[in-house]
Amino acid sequence: MKIAVIGAGIIGVSIAAEAAARGADVTLIDKDSPGSGTSSTSYAWVNSNGKEPVGYHELNRAGLEAHHRLAGTGADWFRPTGHIELAATAGHANELHRRLERLGHLGYEATSISSSTASELIPDLIVPEDCTAVAHFPNEAHCYPALYIRHQLQRAKDLGVRLRVGAAVETFEEIAEGVNVILRDGTSVLVDHVISAVGRWTNDITAAAGLGPVVTEYHEPGDVTVGYLAVTNPLPVAIDRILTSPKLNIRPAGGGRLLLQALDLDATATADTVPAIDSDLAREFICRLQEILENTGNAHLTELHVGIRAMPTDGRSIIGTVPSRPWLYLVATHSGVTLAPFLGPAVAAEVFSEPEPLFDEFRPIRLLDSYPHQVLAAPRYPGQQ
Ligand SMILES: Cc1cc2nc3c(=O)[nH]c(=O)nc-3n(C[C@H](O)[C@H](O)[C@H](O)COP(=O)(O)OP(=O)(O)OC[C@H]3O[C@@H](n4cnc5c(N)ncnc54)[C@H](O)[C@@H]3O)c2cc1C
Repeated sequence: MKIAVIGAGIIGVSIAAEAAARGADVTLIDKDSPGSGTSSTSYAWVNSNGKEPVGYHELNRAGLEAHHRLAGTGADWFRPTGHIELAATAGHANELHRRLERLGHLGYEATSISSSTASELIPDLIVPEDCTAVAHFPNEAHCYPALYIRHQLQRAKDLGVRLRVGAAVETFEEIAEGVNVILRDGTSVLVDHVISAVGRWTNDITAAAGLGPVVTEYHEPGDVTVGYLAVTNPLPVAIDRILTSPKLNIRPAGGGRLLLQALDLDATATADTVPAIDSDLAREFICRLQEILENTGNAHLTELHVGIRAMPTDGRSIIGTVPSRPWLYLVATHSGVTLAPFLGPAVAAEVFSEPEPLFDEFRPIRLLDSYPHQVLAAPRYPGQQ
């Protein structure tokens, strides 16, 4: 079986390696360099925390479990150190308690803890005076997507996957022998199946196949597609896990650096401009950091990014074959860092005619038939992203 996987982000590399492991002849194609898309600007929290409805929770949970299995006793891309969430208002505390109850019913590890236990788990935490509740999610993790992609890419190459980088897919031509994937440089690759894993560029692929849009395009500042991510200088701070709170989300970014996210500040994010690392926005990130963690006196930002989400038009994943184009399989989803190690083997299995029941409610047909689409609310509070 000949397969073209388009897109060498965290999802595409996972699928390419698994399809090759099943014996397929795989070509992995990227218009740019591997890992340079949304996977390079992700908070990369591996979780199934605020995911609704239940089918989406189960899917993300399968991703979380697949990460734990793949990383085994140690992998440099995976940090299974858990997550602590702080609530700062009565409303947030109520929502958090309801979420803990729901997750408990679903058998997901989630407990209420005291602020002193939180301080033991994050020694440099300054518990805010207005803290109303604290929760611990011990099985959650964070991931370093570039290291994960490097691992899967090497595996793919060892399994014989051909990599075409700097090669944009422009269109498709259905012929008797299969499908010609036609690249911008005029060359083509003849295959039996095309798996599109191009994330936020999925509308380019559906258009090339004569289909309508299925992912949300950037429309205006602060919409659901855009969010800031800030990176600090290396700091002597004792924190080895994810911390989320209404004002700031923090996780280690390697080498003592921290990755920061503040969902309320995302209201000004645009897809085409990135504020400077000494801007008012950068200073606000640092102020919030210094309020919540000790030993951050000399903190400053070394990087500020705007991440652009791959967001299906109903906010849920797209996974499956297009019925009118049986050679075309689409995968486009938010939470792709969480989902990638589950999607890899399960998508490869589906192309080999082994259906995955967890994908049943995420088939592309629901969106292909329903344009125009709803406007999605942007995530602004902990647990929403
Ligand atoms: C601010 C932010 C925070 C996030 N936080 C989290 C989180 O905490 N947890 C989580 O699980 N997820 C999170 N995500 C989502 C997650 O990062 C993405 O779902 C995931 O990275 C998508 O991976 P992908 O492989 O689908 O896409 P990408 O990484 O974008 O890869 C797509 C690839 O396709 C290539 N391509 C595009 N068009 C073509 C073409 N025509 N021909 C050839 N190649 C093409 C691109 O060059 C790119 O390399 C976050 C995202 C953002 C923006």
